[in-house]
Amino acid sequence: MMASRPPSAARAATSRPPTRSSARRRPSTTPAAHRSGTPRRERYPGRPRGRFLSLGAGVQSLSVFLLACEGRIPRFDAALFADTGWEPKQVYAQLDIARRIGARAGIPVLTVSNGNIRHDALNPNARFVTMPLFVKNPDGSRGMARRQCTGDYKIRPLKKAVREILGYPHPLRVPRGVFVDQAIGISTDEFHRAKDSDVNYTRNIFPLLDLGMSRSDCLAYLRERGLGDVVKSSCIGCPYSGNSRLRFIRDTDPQAWTDLIEFDKAIRNGSPRANAEGKPLRGQFFIHRSLLPLDEVDLDATRGRPGIEEDDPDGCSPFSCRSGPAATVPVP
Ligand code: SF4
Repeated sequence: MMASRPPSAARAATSRPPTRSSARRRPSTTPAAHRSGTPRRERYPGRPRGRFLSLGAGVQSLSVFLLACEGRIPRFDAALFADTGWEPKQVYAQLDIARRIGARAGIPVLTVSNGNIRHDALNPNARFVTMPLFVKNPDGSRGMARRQCTGDYKIRPLKKAVREILGYPHPLRVPRGVFVDQAIGISTDEFHRAKDSDVNYTRNIFPLLDLGMSRSDCLAYLRERGLGDVVKSSCIGCPYSGNSRLRFIRDTDPQAWTDLIEFDKAIRNGSPRANAEGKPLRGQFFIHRSLLPLDEVDLDATRGRPGIEEDDPDGCSPFSCRSGPAATVPVP
């Protein structure tokens, strides 16, 4: 379990992130789109109208947040957390710690949301939710449903918030040159995930790349501040979860585990919304890659087998997520 107390200022002062000189020894961290595309000063003329952090409350983004709170990087106007409503309780606890530290530093943590992904996925009258669920096809082969949930539940509410901050809510057109800087917590070991923004009203920046900080640097930095047990930010029912994470949920939060087992059963024969619309799934959905009901999976049998134990290193990060394997089954 993570330490519940925020780090003291004295302890916080003892750690220093890697220097820019160490960053220079690392591979290029410039996003590919930036290297080959339009120079930023042309795409983003003028000065940013604000500086925000996309806070997932996991290892990297929490490190960026603390660096700003400690004045090691320029401060943020606010950190924005996109809440799917179905994160582990430990992530919400980490968010509470960030709120307390941010309050002392004058950097608010704001929550944005586009609904509760679990409720929506099970409600035949709610919007259609496309999670990357595993699919057992009629011929027994395994597929994976297309993922749109990151866009719907994380990216969309974050963009909506930025538009509102800038004073141009949808469908108003944001004029050229009106933009904010949006920090994303990508560490040097994952620099290839850094991408330019797909809209002109946010300019993505990557403080950890600028500082040359790796994931292990972030872990050490957090550990020195009493935050050595930060868990990954990701929906409880995310199919990208490895057995290690599933065991963690099972062993630390019985209610969340019960909810997850129920969810796994409820989606077996397809989306309730799709079924209500007369579009049944050809095959069956599963949370677990083994295509077994989750309560029949022996999660303890895979200890020491990294491929099955581990999940995505960062969970689901709004602007640096992996897209996952291509869709192999049509999802109505
Ligand atoms: S964590 Fe998984 S289920 Fe949740 S939004 Fe991201 S990809 Fe979808």
